[in-house]
Amino acid sequence: MVDFPRCRVATWADIDQLADRVAEQVLAAGLRPETIVGLTRGGWVPARLLADRLGVKRVYSLRAQHWGVTATPSGRAEVTEGVSGPVEGQRVLIVDDITDTGESLELALARVRDGRPTRAETAALFHITHSKFTPNYFGEEIPKESWVWVVFPWNYWEDLASLAERARSVAPEGVRTLLRERCGWDVPPEHLARLATWAERH
Ligand code: AMP
Repeated sequence: MVDFPRCRVATWADIDQLADRVAEQVLAAGLRPETIVGLTRGGWVPARLLADRLGVKRVYSLRAQHWGVTATPSGRAEVTEGVSGPVEGQRVLIVDDITDTGESLELALARVRDGRPTRAETAALFHITHSKFTPNYFGEEIPKESWVWVVFPWNYWEDLASLAERARSVAPEGVRTLLRERCGWDVPPEHLARLATWAERH
């Protein structure tokens, strides 16, 4: 378990640029997907961004579970909900936000292939080089020596909540300092305040 992972906060502008890059690669390869499958939950927004750029109307989901709380893998990945629609005879692009172990996308590809598509390929916004599975298309490669936990805009508050809770358990007064020093995440104070008010209402 990585107690306090190095973090990199990805902005919406970063995501937009990465989606552009992936879309460009898919177009250059001539895949012309008819269906996009987004992995739940990290692949949903990237799947939708790619569907928009590639003019794909049919977007399905598939649930692969692996990582528990932030930066803490919980054993091997497994597909807990299969593809949400039929893919037989279609050209399919399977999308996730990042390949780290690569297990989720590898399993998703196998599951989609079971549905007899004519072609099935994979894409991720980020690809970490130690991943045992390399997607056909990816926006940015992260060298394994520079592993980071990418804080995606769609996981921002969840990541902040879990890391702040960990930080609070070891340094109740110094959550911001600890996150800055250990994780490299300079959290705006108002975000910690907002987190506290949300927690009360959950
Ligand atoms: P994988 O280990 O490739 O099966 O990753 C499974 C999922 O866990 C990814 O789709 C992400 O949502 C999440 N994840 C794994 N590694 C990271 C990371 N370094 N940064 C952010 N999210 C991650």
